[in-house]
Amino acid sequence: MSVQVVSAAAAAKVPEVELKDLSPSEAQPQLALSTAAVSAMAPAAGGGDPEAPAPAGERPPAPGPGSGPAAAALSPAAGKVPQASAMKRSDPHHQHQRHRDGGEALVSPDGTVTEAPRTVKKIQFADQKQEFNKRPTKIGRRSLSRSISQSSTDSYSSAASYTDSSDDETSPRDKQQKNSKGSGDFCVKNIKQAEFGRREIEIAEQEMPALMALRKRAQGEKPLAGAKIVGCTHITAQTAVLMETLGALGAQCRWAACNIYSTLNEVAAALAESGFPVFAWKGESEDDFWWCIDRCVNVEGWQPNMILDDGGDLTHWIYKKYPNMFKKIKGIVEESVTGVHRLYQLSKAGKLCVPAMNVNDSVTKQKFDNLYCCRESILDGLKRTTDMMFGGKQVVVCGYGEVGKGCCAALKAMGSIVYVTEIDPICALQACMDGFRLVKLNEVIRQVDIVITCTGNKNVVTREHLDRMKNSCIVCNMGHSNTEIDVTYQSISQCDFLVLKFYGIFLAQLYFCLGKWLKQSMLSSPLRAALIELQHCQASLRTPELTWERVRSQVDHVIWPDGKRIVLLAEGRLLNLSCSTVPTFVLSITATTQALALIELYNAPEGRYKQDVYLLPKKMDEYVASLHLPTFDAHLTELTDEQAKYLGLNKNGPFKPNYYRY
Ligand code: NAD
Repeated sequence: MSVQVVSAAAAAKVPEVELKDLSPSEAQPQLALSTAAVSAMAPAAGGGDPEAPAPAGERPPAPGPGSGPAAAALSPAAGKVPQASAMKRSDPHHQHQRHRDGGEALVSPDGTVTEAPRTVKKIQFADQKQEFNKRPTKIGRRSLSRSISQSSTDSYSSAASYTDSSDDETSPRDKQQKNSKGSGDFCVKNIKQAEFGRREIEIAEQEMPALMALRKRAQGEKPLAGAKIVGCTHITAQTAVLMETLGALGAQCRWAACNIYSTLNEVAAALAESGFPVFAWKGESEDDFWWCIDRCVNVEGWQPNMILDDGGDLTHWIYKKYPNMFKKIKGIVEESVTGVHRLYQLSKAGKLCVPAMNVNDSVTKQKFDNLYCCRESILDGLKRTTDMMFGGKQVVVCGYGEVGKGCCAALKAMGSIVYVTEIDPICALQACMDGFRLVKLNEVIRQVDIVITCTGNKNVVTREHLDRMKNSCIVCNMGHSNTEIDVTYQSISQCDFLVLKFYGIFLAQLYFCLGKWLKQSMLSSPLRAALIELQHCQASLRTPELTWERVRSQVDHVIWPDGKRIVLLAEGRLLNLSCSTVPTFVLSITATTQALALIELYNAPEGRYKQDVYLLPKKMDEYVASLHLPTFDAHLTELTDEQAKYLGLNKNGPFKPNYYRY
């Protein structure tokens, strides 16, 4: 018996999936993932041991073992399938620069840009101190969430809550709510919003064909039967589709949000209404955030055996509070750069006690999320905030990696004149060969209309550059957090230290001058941090001689004494995630990868994965891609036996060696 994905009607958006008994030759060439295909995961002659997951660097260039339980578990032949292997990432620090930020959902479905949250939670990992018996006051909650520094949550939501419940000040924790079946095992803003949320989920389903395909396939098979998944991700319509798919595959799920702002309240309500214990709402305080996570894991009669995390906070919480839980946990699937980095740190320190899958570095995430997502959303973000015309505009894009390539391609297609800056000669040469002028930022800074940073680096656009820009130049960032443009996120006026609010600059200067004499230990660490922050303000756009004018949500005019204005978007945070939506289809690819990673880890026999961090097998990346092809009525060519032999490939993949760069 094989599992075959069949696009029944080319016109239909969601491909139909059926389980069929087929010989490999009968299978539809383009999308069949037959038992043979899965069996073909056995290595080519001379390949390694399929039982032994090997680090990427140690693997032979010839196509190695491919996928395993994730695909196989969807087939009754699962038990017979050769076991999967996974690649350990060889350079755990490689991703450190690829930090990605976001989390806000700021544009309502009707297209209106809503007020953006100003901070995105960054949860300190090492010395997190939480006290659950101390409930903060309402003011306490507010100031807590405001003082959480913006930096990382590595991913995002893509739609906004259109039932803004800011008028309802009661904390969800103080409400007694039940769904229509009488269950109160959830905590959301307002269960009555469930119907709106359901509509959002249905819309998302249309653009998430692979998950829908897995769901249909699961009508006969439950590869996650018995799985108890605790999840901590953005709670959006797309996540809801993932959760409901996991449910259809047999899993029980409990879920919290990985970001205090990104929850769509109505979607959380819809999930709670359909029986998912969801603990999340938009605008949680930090205390709420940990409380919600705790409610997911600390429950009588239920213990998770799988973790799906985005940012590492859930994993961290279980490590700190309930380490014994790891005895039952079969694996962790981690989505974000930050979380993955932390897992590698744990692994390096010998403290990782279960296998973990690094979904962030899957080809299907890196290539599609970074390149195509940004190609689609850069124009959207610029248009919604500035209404500008792109034709003929001079744009400089800093960084020609995946994100930069996407931005450049979109702007070029609109008729913009695009310059590129790069530090890496290879990417620089790519830019040249793609027809872009490679320049130093200084060379074009006076003439360009738009500056876009996409480097993952810091201080790429400095105050000096900003001083030299022409009037009305638009400045925005598509890369890591708010570090690329020297804005400094925390303005003095936002500072929680009231005294420093007025005397901060003076104190900062004083501290700077006396710094050589003052031993750091003489100052308490929050004060020291605040002073350093304020010192930094001096070099940034937050200086007294510049006036800031908020002209629209997410759009600031920074005005120089001579009247020159710079248009700064999203205060230097990620433009697309702050000011536009990102394509659901891209999220579908990532969500499918997550689902397959869960299936893989859950079904893997003991010993296949050790206490280390693994990449998904290439075969599964290929499988994720294949599940998305029917949307395009795409017809994949099948290798002939002769061709397969000639190339030394299995007809059903994997088609590329692990080192292939796409
Ligand atoms: P990448 O590493 O492929 O590309 C970054 C490029 O910037 C590299 O080629 C590097 O050589 C170059 N660079 C570094 N410092 C530079 C400098 N000072 N001047 C000019 N060029 C410089 O990374 P990527 O995948 O393109 O991602 C870039 C950033 O975007 C990362 O921070 C990533 O987290 C973020 N990201 C954003 C989104 C989004 O939706 N906005 C999506 C994915 C990733």
